[in-house]
Amino acid sequence: MALTKDEAKKLEYRPKTVYSLVKEVEKTAEEYCEGYKEFLNASKTERGAVRFTIAEAVSRGFESFDAKKKYNSGDKVYYNNRNKSLILAVIGTDAKAGANIIASHIDSPRIDLKQKPLYEENGIGYFKTHYYGGIKKYQWSALPLALHGVIIKKSGEVVEVCIGEDENDPVLCISDLMPHIGKDQYDRKLSEGIKGEELNIITGIKPLDGDEDESVKLNILSILSEKYGICEADLITAELTAVPAMKARDAGLDRSMILAYGQDDKVCSYPSLTALFELDKTPEKTAICILADKEEIGSYGVTGLNSQALSHFIKDICDSRSVSYTEFIKNSVCLSADVGGAYDPTFASAYDSRNSAFLAKGIVITKYTGSRGKSGSSDASAELFSKIVRLFEKNGIVWQNGEYGKVDQGGAGTVASEIAAMNIDVIDAGVPVLCMHSPAELAAKVDIHMMHRASEAFYCMTKD
Ligand code: MN
Ligand code: MN
Repeated sequence: MALTKDEAKKLEYRPKTVYSLVKEVEKTAEEYCEGYKEFLNASKTERGAVRFTIAEAVSRGFESFDAKKKYNSGDKVYYNNRNKSLILAVIGTDAKAGANIIASHIDSPRIDLKQKPLYEENGIGYFKTHYYGGIKKYQWSALPLALHGVIIKKSGEVVEVCIGEDENDPVLCISDLMPHIGKDQYDRKLSEGIKGEELNIITGIKPLDGDEDESVKLNILSILSEKYGICEADLITAELTAVPAMKARDAGLDRSMILAYGQDDKVCSYPSLTALFELDKTPEKTAICILADKEEIGSYGVTGLNSQALSHFIKDICDSRSVSYTEFIKNSVCLSADVGGAYDPTFASAYDSRNSAFLAKGIVITKYTGSRGKSGSSDASAELFSKIVRLFEKNGIVWQNGEYGKVDQGGAGTVASEIAAMNIDVIDAGVPVLCMHSPAELAAKVDIHMMHRASEAFYCMTKD
């Protein structure tokens, strides 16, 4: 016999907002995001995120990992990979049960300085740049920028650079053409509104002495020498990067969102970190929180998840507890915690609204990423997907399904494929974000809070 309409309606899947599903969530999310804003402001670069996180971890009893030591249930360790990525772990009660791993990344799209950045043209001093990650270049001009990074002096001394974050600091800027004479620029394709070689950062206009050529460049060099004791050649080996000089802010007249640079992917890093810090009892499986570098440029490089650093860390833990690495790995599961592209009604035609994630409807689980027919995706299994959904539902975590956009509209990759290559079951789950990869990304506070609770539940997931 056919069901009644009301009966059939109960069978439908209709995602609801976190607001309607979880009581009192607003105040909790509000308080939670105060800490998140601090993390964002201290973590403009991966080096900043590592520095901030180690200080927090140490204050919570985490110790620097030593492969020669024996580790036991309840021990808390961190492994600092070259000051650019970090693995934290709480050793589980069952040595053979494997790990519950949450892998997010702490690098974000930005404007890196070229290795020979200093030059002058028509009395204006500049830095040449080479952007890092997938940016819409036109979004990065006429915007206050801060300079971060390290310069290694001939003596080996490491100079930390941070200009533009303090209110009293000067900021930097990339120029754009005034609209009045923008005719030719308007005719360019949007992707070439500002071209790669036009992302030139203005450093100053004051000549050192007299108006000869290069006098402005010489003045900038003199300022850098006075401040840091460096010469032009030291910049060649340096790592300097420009990021938006804005602080994380509440957004919306209802203060429901956070507007900030670098939420991809610190909006997943922070929740996975705070959940690890707040575990109230030692979990059965070892809880591992990965803060990876280089995701935005394909995870290559020794601090990216393409390197063996994670497997070596896990091998060392297994050795220290005398358990088989392959058995440990087989019992491990990973959430590839990266942002999802939230549905944007203003650009509706780029999405399949039936398979999109929405702001404030909870964390987004993404079965596959990739592009042109899922290419490059690790495509999680139905078994793992349903296991994670059951875990979230048991713990009252609001989740939704979502993929990036319309088929063949583009696509994206995450660290899921690197984790899968280790023979670890992995699925993408994270916070939906608007204006992704722009200087100011938007995320919903209630979703960020859900990500924290989801991380908590995931670390505590038992073997069976
Ligand atoms: Mn990401
Ligand atoms: Mn990204």
